[in-house]
Amino acid sequence: MKHLKKIDPQIYNVIHNEAKRQEENLELIASENFTSPAVLEAMGSILTNKYAEGYPHHRWYGGCENVDVAESLAIERATELFKAEHVNVQAHSGSQANMAVYFSCLNVGDTIMALDLACGGHLTHGHPHNFSGKFFKVVSYGVHRETEKLDYDQILTLAKEYRPRLILAGASAYPRIIDFKKFRGICDSVGAYLFVDMAHIAGLVAAGAHPSPVPYAEFVSSTTHKTLRGPRGGFVICKKEFSRKLDLEIFPGIQGGPLMHVVAAKAVAFKEAMSAKFKKDQRQTIQNARVLCEALKEKGYRVISGGTDNHLFLLDVSEKGLTGKEAQEKLDKAGITVNKNLIPFDDKSPVLTSGIRIGTPAVTTRGMKEKQMKLIAEYIDTVLKAAEEKAFLETKKKVRALTKEFPLYAQLKK
Ligand code: PLP
Repeated sequence: MKHLKKIDPQIYNVIHNEAKRQEENLELIASENFTSPAVLEAMGSILTNKYAEGYPHHRWYGGCENVDVAESLAIERATELFKAEHVNVQAHSGSQANMAVYFSCLNVGDTIMALDLACGGHLTHGHPHNFSGKFFKVVSYGVHRETEKLDYDQILTLAKEYRPRLILAGASAYPRIIDFKKFRGICDSVGAYLFVDMAHIAGLVAAGAHPSPVPYAEFVSSTTHKTLRGPRGGFVICKKEFSRKLDLEIFPGIQGGPLMHVVAAKAVAFKEAMSAKFKKDQRQTIQNARVLCEALKEKGYRVISGGTDNHLFLLDVSEKGLTGKEAQEKLDKAGITVNKNLIPFDDKSPVLTSGIRIGTPAVTTRGMKEKQMKLIAEYIDTVLKAAEEKAFLETKKKVRALTKEFPLYAQLKK
């Protein structure tokens, strides 16, 4: 980055320091991952210079012959990867992907049903401060009070009572397999559209490590940067009958020119997601989450729903006398990065929370396996019990030694 260093040393330093932080710390935020150097190269390319409003071969601007190839490849690859009828790869983010889906099949004022934020839902699933909560009437479903798993009987009962136009399945913090077939049945019984937000599990779905929602749902949205390990962005899959409507809702509905450098990077990520190595990594991600979760359970931590089937799990730290915020801050001091998270039926505010969310996509991308998960459980336990700076610093040293064994962007430095 010699040009950046010369022109803008402040931003150069930000990137330099962040690279160091990512290299040295243990990244356990469930929605984060490390893209490949190939994805980074496409993202940092001159494709950012190009305006390409419209879709391949139907653009409002001239000179789109090269970016047309990139977008067509992204569409073809995503179509093949997820066995989709139609894919739009232009959504700038997961939130915009979700907005486009709602606008494709709903009118303002319609009723939607989605998972409650405290039980793992996302802000775009009807939070009052989000556009979704402002434009639509929202009925939230939760999880079962005892099992802390989705309660399909409750969802059916609510659906029959409120007759929503659309039911959303999918979550930001739900550790169990979601039964999309059951959701389809519930939707059919009340004449609702099924919309699945697979942002968190898209990589697992691509690898066949989680059942796919695509055969069941009219609409499936996703981000590209979580388990899928691509650039920051979104995409939407839909049934053929909605394809024209969806494309119109993305552009000109809610967006202008697509970010062609990001679209190209999405194409790269979809290609990488077809590889045997990616499939193996996704299975290892789940295995790592299980091992880390079990190791923490053995140390006496309460795990929401008793375990995990995917890439993440939630710890109830209130039983250890901590808020999620305190736990997050303690772990930060030792170079272990997690996020505080509401847990089902949480009596604390979203700013404090009773839980933390732990995910294994990023550490798995670095090459860590079961042995390292057991070490990480030790570190987390030590830090959460500790009160003195000395203990945080000692663990931080161990974290540094562990991350050094699994260099992140070593290939970029060659
Ligand atoms: N949907 C789910 C389930 C998410 O977890 C997230 C982000 O965390 C989003 C949508 C929104 O994605 P973005 O942050 O790209 O807008």
